[in-house]
Amino acid sequence: MKTVAAVLVGANKPLELLELETPKLKRGQVLVKMEYTSLCGSQMNEIRGHKAEGYIPHTLGHEGYGTVVESKSSRFKEGETVVASWISDCNFFDEKEEISYYDNILGRVNSGQCATLLTYAIINEYNLYSFEATDPELAPFLGCVIPTAFSAAEETLGEEMDIAAVIGLGGVGMALSIILNIRKETEYVYGADLDEEKLKLSGLPSIYNILNSEEEYVSHIYDATGAASSFNTFWGKQDKKYILVGNYEAVKFEIDPMDLIVDQKDLVGVRGDSYPLGSLLKNGVEIETSCRYESFYLKDFEKVKGKIYNLKDVNEAINNFGREMKPVLRMS
Ligand SMILES: [Zn+2]
Repeated sequence: MKTVAAVLVGANKPLELLELETPKLKRGQVLVKMEYTSLCGSQMNEIRGHKAEGYIPHTLGHEGYGTVVESKSSRFKEGETVVASWISDCNFFDEKEEISYYDNILGRVNSGQCATLLTYAIINEYNLYSFEATDPELAPFLGCVIPTAFSAAEETLGEEMDIAAVIGLGGVGMALSIILNIRKETEYVYGADLDEEKLKLSGLPSIYNILNSEEEYVSHIYDATGAASSFNTFWGKQDKKYILVGNYEAVKFEIDPMDLIVDQKDLVGVRGDSYPLGSLLKNGVEIETSCRYESFYLKDFEKVKGKIYNLKDVNEAINNFGREMKPVLRMS
């Protein structure tokens, strides 16, 4: 069977759409007809050469939604719809991950255990989650951006939170602000983004409203910008905890140790698999957090979605990345 894949052929080069031959499935692998995929900062880092060049050429994408067309896994059957994610399901994961290779004119194209920027993708069973989406365009977000935002929100669960601020209202920041507002651990969630439109879309009041006031203070800052400049601006402005979330490749911070020792300010970093994705998706179309009782629905995350692109326009989506909300690719 043939598949069309967006392949990274070199750092800082446009992706090439190549027709590749799909190899025979091995045990534990599933062939998924991708319906929607989205792009996130990780792919941008790979494209910019911040990740191992040794794997080039390779396919990209680590969050997707599609339909099983062939399965060598006892857990998935033909016709079932699934979320594909880089996050391995810890309920089943056993370290024996097969890497898929597709043959083409470039030779072997590396595809890892979960790549989603292909019309038909071979994905490891541990990277798939059974899920029937009523909003299929939003469903790829369940593979990375939503669990990443939940992971950040879990980091502060149960803490006394007076005023929270989300810095950077791209995909992760927007999803996080939605979760914080639904959870209502604090009624006061502020935001900041260099792009005024994103702040407006979030509906959050600007963090500068309180930073400029004498009496108010921020207890928690979630920084989802991926930028050292943001950290240098906001670190220390929080009374309690500073949470770094998202992609920070090729970025170095400087910090005054006395902030931690004397002022007892906390700094933590979280990644998308801090929250078990399997339990997030256990209820089918309803996303529910296991340790608290609020229900979340996929449609709650509509604001995370930016433009929908066709696969052939993937390089346009890459060039616009960051200037709009999270791009979604229609794969067929
Ligand atoms: Zn991601």
